[in-house]
Amino acid sequence: MNAPPYIGRFAPTPSGYLHFGSLVACLASYLDARHVGGHWLLRMEDLDPPREVAGAQEAILRTLENYGFEWDGDLVRQSERHEVYASVLQRLFDQGLAYACTCSRKQLEGYAGVYPGFCRNAGHAAEDAAIRLRVPELEYRFIDRVQGEYRQHLGREVGDFVIRRRDGLYAYQLAVVLDDAWQGVTDVVRGADLLDSTPRQLYLQELLGFSQPRYLHVPLIIQPDGHKLGKSYRSPPLSAEQAPALLLRALRALGQQPPGELQGARVHELLAWGIAHWDAARIPRSRALAEEQLR
Ligand code: GLU
Ligand code: ZN
Repeated sequence: MNAPPYIGRFAPTPSGYLHFGSLVACLASYLDARHVGGHWLLRMEDLDPPREVAGAQEAILRTLENYGFEWDGDLVRQSERHEVYASVLQRLFDQGLAYACTCSRKQLEGYAGVYPGFCRNAGHAAEDAAIRLRVPELEYRFIDRVQGEYRQHLGREVGDFVIRRRDGLYAYQLAVVLDDAWQGVTDVVRGADLLDSTPRQLYLQELLGFSQPRYLHVPLIIQPDGHKLGKSYRSPPLSAEQAPALLLRALRALGQQPPGELQGARVHELLAWGIAHWDAARIPRSRALAEEQLR
């Protein structure tokens, strides 16, 4: 059997409910997959129980159903994949590609988020320490389908980054790469807040011998108060009553041009129109859009 030519996914974090910005990213990944007859998977990125909002997982699933999104196969939860993360992490550690870091937050102040490498050669034990991946002194570069060329020098702009926190929780960067590869994801479509995570993920893919997916980062949606609707934004759940209106607005945010007759259509009709007419080349080539201009 041949592998399907396109496997996309939506990978929400239950640290809050879906908001209009997540709807835009979800819709883009769904339409991009379904337009070419591809598969579309759903993965719950529940790596961080302390930051999980009670009931958010159920609310996210309900919202996806209310908005008409249908995923292929079973929902995957990252909380059920710890053994895989642990074994890869152990291998990276044993090979000296990753090392233990005992730096306190205080020690790392003043380095603008770039780890200065204090523990690189310290040989700390892995217990009760964060684990960092050594990065090469190289620039990573890829062509995003919407944002165009993106470059980042891992050594100078990021530094050795955490793949397991000191409290034992696995980092998003590690889990996302392992899971996308395991699920055979060919196309990552997500919000532009993750553009600057991509070079770290490219490095991990290279290290682990995985093939590189295509990337498409959609603009973030900015609230009237200037707040970016990114991962950390807290908002109420997207209402079921507003589903058709918000889907129409999300289609327009993505540069698609739904005809006037779709005013008052139901969610399934809207998605069917979106699948048939999807044109990723129309997505605005910007990192962010103001929500007020979309109303
Ligand atoms: N879980 C991430 C988020 O909600 C998205 C991960 C991804 O799409 O790569 O921001
Ligand atoms: Zn350190």
